[in-house]
Amino acid sequence: MSLLTSAIGLAKKAKHSLKDEIDRRAPVYLSPVRRIERVKTNERVCAMTFDDGPMNLPPSPDNHGGKPLTLVLIETLEKYGAKGTFDVIGDTSNNYPDKAGKHGSASWGGISYDHYPDIHKDNMGGARHCPGIISRILSGGHQITNHTYSHVLYGKKAVVYGSRKYMDSIDDVIADLARLDDLLRDDFGYKMTMTRPPHYVDNIKGGFSSYDACAAMDYQYMAASFDGAGWLPCKTYEQEVEAVWKPIESALKADPDALCGQIIFQKDGYNMARRTPIADGLEKALQVLAFYGYKVVTVEELMGYSPFEDLGADDGLFPAASLLLQSGYTVAYKNNKVLTENPLTLGELLMMLYGREGAAKRLSLMKGRDRLDLKGVKANHPYSGALAIALEKGVINTHADINREIDLSAFNDICRKVYGKTATISMPITHGKTIAALAELSEIKK
Ligand SMILES: [Zn+2]
Repeated sequence: MSLLTSAIGLAKKAKHSLKDEIDRRAPVYLSPVRRIERVKTNERVCAMTFDDGPMNLPPSPDNHGGKPLTLVLIETLEKYGAKGTFDVIGDTSNNYPDKAGKHGSASWGGISYDHYPDIHKDNMGGARHCPGIISRILSGGHQITNHTYSHVLYGKKAVVYGSRKYMDSIDDVIADLARLDDLLRDDFGYKMTMTRPPHYVDNIKGGFSSYDACAAMDYQYMAASFDGAGWLPCKTYEQEVEAVWKPIESALKADPDALCGQIIFQKDGYNMARRTPIADGLEKALQVLAFYGYKVVTVEELMGYSPFEDLGADDGLFPAASLLLQSGYTVAYKNNKVLTENPLTLGELLMMLYGREGAAKRLSLMKGRDRLDLKGVKANHPYSGALAIALEKGVINTHADINREIDLSAFNDICRKVYGKTATISMPITHGKTIAALAELSEIKK
């Protein structure tokens, strides 16, 4: 069991460093959907997310007198004035029926499916079956995010979850997200704004990705920057409980500011050994954070300190960038960085202007329901929707070279077409200078 567990750990690590490598090499695109891992702030504030609940079953082992796990977490958070972000599921019955897998392995919950809250206990989990818990989360001022209605993977994940079932199409993924979104809105009057795909599987059949689904839902992609080890089975329960808080303490001992702006990943459900160490480890984690002066807020509140990973309240461009973002401009890259020193291409300028509006257009281009007549640009280009809108509006023509770094006359030409006037800007035109210029042109005051 421990061998298998460490193999999973290694596979995850290997995949992670491979992903880092890909991130370094692949071009980074501006995106209306940003992957929020952490934000830039000097303040001792962080967020904690709890995946896979609500869970109306007691913790395992139960040291809390039969109280449901989610309620134990809420009450523990509130004892410390902390707010949690509950990344909930709608209903688990699509994950059944199935045979239980091996405890301590990636298949513990079943070979083809996940099992939350437990095998044959669908009615004890999922927002649909636990309205009392959902109401309690909301009345406590905590945040709820969309972990999908069914918790079925978006696409094939070869390394760890190769045998799992996955969604058939982008339309199925969007329908699944919308189903939980509707449930929260209709039954609880609550609008969700963020989502985390099950097991972070992003690829969807047909060349689509979870970012396309997020864009269709007008969601941000909620990731995390600090692993709270809630999934990790250890030899003993005591070791699992320690793994919930000890890494937080070690990080803060080494640097008391280490967790500023970070999102800590936790679980509102079983780990792979069918235990819930979070129930007993959360209190110690919150004590450690309080000792170092940290305030634990919702992810939404955390993004109020800064919505970006590399631009904070102390940076000169921060007011302009934040206001543009609020006004619907595509200000940041997919990795939630603004990268102010990046040189600006024509494609990027058009994406900043029309990225959000273009998301739906891009989906219909990719489904072949629409055509884009632009030199060298295919339907699956990340900017295709924005470029199609720019073409329709006559801002560019079909010969435009979107990969060219923009010069002063091209920049002013676009500004005249869009705003009827030009802005103060100098060469070389960077992403940062463009943010200042667009804020000036759209008369967004600092
Ligand atoms: Zn999950």
